[in-house]
Amino acid sequence: MTAGRIGAVIVAAGRGERAGQSAEGPKQYRRIGGRSVIRRTLEAFLAHPRINAVAVAIHADDGALFAEAAGELAGRVIALPGGATRQASTRLALLALRGENLDAVLIHDGVRPFVDAGLIDRVIDGLDGESGSLPALAVSDTLKQAAEGLVGRTVPRDGLFAAQTPQGFAFGPILTAHERAHAAGREDFTDDAAIAEWAGIPVRLVEGSADNVKLTWARDIEMANARLSAGLLPDVRTGNGYDVHCFAEGDHVTLCGVAIPHTKRLSGHSDADVALHALTDALLATCGAGDIGTHFPPSDMRWKGAASRIFVEEAVRIVRERGGRIANADITLIAEAPKIGPHRAAMTAELTSMLGISPDRVSVKATTNERLGFVGREEGIAAIATASVVYPGGLPE
Ligand code: MG
Repeated sequence: MTAGRIGAVIVAAGRGERAGQSAEGPKQYRRIGGRSVIRRTLEAFLAHPRINAVAVAIHADDGALFAEAAGELAGRVIALPGGATRQASTRLALLALRGENLDAVLIHDGVRPFVDAGLIDRVIDGLDGESGSLPALAVSDTLKQAAEGLVGRTVPRDGLFAAQTPQGFAFGPILTAHERAHAAGREDFTDDAAIAEWAGIPVRLVEGSADNVKLTWARDIEMANARLSAGLLPDVRTGNGYDVHCFAEGDHVTLCGVAIPHTKRLSGHSDADVALHALTDALLATCGAGDIGTHFPPSDMRWKGAASRIFVEEAVRIVRERGGRIANADITLIAEAPKIGPHRAAMTAELTSMLGISPDRVSVKATTNERLGFVGREEGIAAIATASVVYPGGLPE
C-alpha cells in the first residue's frame, strides 16, 4: 500500500508492574538518554511523513505524567484514557480515530521506543488490500518446552517468529474485528495480529528490527538508558547575573537575605537585595527563562518591600520544573562598606536553604572597588552572580 491516509495507535495505558516502581512512574514515562520512553515513541510516528494521525491510550491516572513527558507533542496527538487491558485500550484508541478518515492504522506498543522510519515503512508497504502486516524476527534461540522442571522436549524453531509492533491493518476491518471480539466477551488477545487471526483477516510477515525491543523489565530500561547515554556529555549550563542598587537614607542593608546594620539602606522596590537579584537572573539564564523583570515586573505593587528570597525561590522552581539540578552558586558583592566577612556564614546559610544545596556548593565573596567609580564613592552596591545547573539529557560529543 503506497497511498491513503494512515494513522497510528500507541498503546501506553499499562502500569508496567514488571519494571518495578520508580519516581518517574510507569516505564513508559521513565527517561532513557534524557527523554521519556513515550516521547521517543511518539517522535518516531509524528516525524514519519506517511503517518497522518496519532492516538495514544494512556492510563486515566497518568494525564499529568503524559502531559509532562510529551511536552509540546501532546498537542499533536489524540490522547485518551485506555481500558483495563491492552486490547481494550486499542479498541478505544481505534474508536477515537474514526473521524480521521483513515485507510489503514499501525498499532504500536508505547514501550518500544526504538521503532524507526524504515520499520514503519516496511509495515506500511506490507499492507495489501484487506490483509494486515506484522513485523517479526525469526526465532534464533533453541526452544525447550518444560515438563515439571525438566526439559520435556525441544520445539522445532523452523517457521517460528517473534512478533513485534507496529502491526498494520486496513482501518475498517481491524476496528470491526475489535468490536466483534469485545461483543463476544473476548478480552484475552495479547496482540492485534491475534485478533486479526481470530477474525479471519490474513496477516503478512515483514522483517522486524532487532533494535525494536519492548522495554519490559527494569533491566531493559537501564540498558536502554546506558545505550542512549553513551557518548553524551552532561548538559551543564552556566548563567550570570549583575545588579546595582543605590544608597538612600536608612540604618541597614539586606544582602543575601541577611539584614546588616549600616549607615544607609539600599533603595529599590523590594528589599533591594542586589545579591539575590543577581542570583535570580543567573538561575533563570541557565534555562532561557528571561530575567527577574520578566517574572516580577517592578510595576507590580505586590513586590513592594518584598523579601527578595521569593524571587530566588521562584527561579529555583522554574529550574527544577525543567529538570535542572543546581550544581553551585557564586556571588561577588562589590562594596566599600559594610564589611561582609562577619555575615558570610549567615548569608551562606540563607543561600543554602533557598537553593536546596549543600554549603560547599555556595560561595559568597566581597571586594571593594578601590574607591573608584560609583561604588568607590559609596553611592551604591553592585553584585555579580554565577550559577551552574545540570539539566537532563546531554550533548552529543
Ligand atoms: Mg535589583
